[in-house]
Amino acid sequence: MASRLHHLGHKPADSSSSSSASSYAQSNSTLSYRQRASLSTQRTSMDTDDWVKEQSEMVPVQAEELQARRTKGSYRLSDFIIQRTLGTGSFGRVHLVRSKHNLRFYAIKVLNKDKIVRMKQESHTRNEQMMLQAVQHPFIINLWGAFQDTSNLYMVMDFVPGGELFTLLRRSNRFPDPVAKFYAAEVALALNYLHGKDIIYRDLKPENILLNFDGHIKIADFGFAKQCATTVWTLCGTPDYLAPEIISNERYNKSVDWYALGVLIFEMLSGLPPFHEPDLAPVKLYEKIATGPSCIKWPAFHPNATDLILKLMEREPSRRFGNMQHGAGDVFAHPWFAEVDWNKLLKREITAPYLPKISSEGDASAFERYPEDNASARYGEITSDPYGERFPDFDYTTS
Ligand code: AMP
Repeated sequence: MASRLHHLGHKPADSSSSSSASSYAQSNSTLSYRQRASLSTQRTSMDTDDWVKEQSEMVPVQAEELQARRTKGSYRLSDFIIQRTLGTGSFGRVHLVRSKHNLRFYAIKVLNKDKIVRMKQESHTRNEQMMLQAVQHPFIINLWGAFQDTSNLYMVMDFVPGGELFTLLRRSNRFPDPVAKFYAAEVALALNYLHGKDIIYRDLKPENILLNFDGHIKIADFGFAKQCATTVWTLCGTPDYLAPEIISNERYNKSVDWYALGVLIFEMLSGLPPFHEPDLAPVKLYEKIATGPSCIKWPAFHPNATDLILKLMEREPSRRFGNMQHGAGDVFAHPWFAEVDWNKLLKREITAPYLPKISSEGDASAFERYPEDNASARYGEITSDPYGERFPDFDYTTS
């Protein structure tokens, strides 16, 4: 529920349709950090039938898949030494930790049960753990295990040291076409894998794409991911990245992730998302999303890039790339990706365009510094626990 959120400060000085990508990016050079929050809203008009239908659409993970999962470790907080904060969310934070046993570094996401229940995020949290447990892919974060104590839930993941794609993008202002293409292609492979498992991701954005030590991506934050073979209804995601059918209260399917890929490619190439509203005015933003790409001020991207973005951001889901007869095949075969060797890319045999500078294992200098606020001091404290039963997939341990 990625909450490490950033400010998009200034309106581009020249955002006319004829403006070049470079002038567009230049005008963003003073972008400052500010929040770009994911959101999740219970639709107030949602009736019980809808709710039941949505729940019934949840397909259980196949038994063989469960077998194939990585060996689930049994962990407890005292197995780790907490080093520092890597990121914060609405319900807790992510820490860099070191295992006392094998001395390796991991990231632990700590979520406060009370906050999760109060903010009605129980099912999202259960989904996050279940989805991460069910997936294994080179471009998706690896979950080693999940446990809980009386106050908190803990998810133990690989530490991904290269920081967020968001940070790299803001520092670069915008990416050259081949760089954007590399990251977009890796994201496309990850989305295709998730969709093959009937998982919708629902929160694609540069903040949730981390860079590994070798510069390849790892998609993080499965807080809104959900197993769903047909359609769902919940309003969640990040405003700039929401597909029109989500904001217009319609049922939607996996194609919202392909729409978001179109937004991501635009943001990587230009430095700002297509419908960016400098004042963070949601109503204006949603009006623009509903109007569609015709109201975008297009920088001078490569024509193939523009064409793919338009096909991904198609307003009518049945005509959207990724969601038609050939599924992701249409995306992979698009001329913008013509030079991509998909098999090599999947095997990480293509050299990444940017290699994070990492001095040693456990070097977290690619991450922003957060006030520690002594947050970890109270982890493991024994309190009363009204919510222990609600998260059965998190092993109950005491520190
Ligand atoms: P999340 O709430 O999952 O979006 O995590 C908040 C932030 O913590 C992310 O945007 C990353 O900056 C950081 N983070 C999350 N997971 C990891 C990880 N496995 N390795 C390194 N940093 C992470």
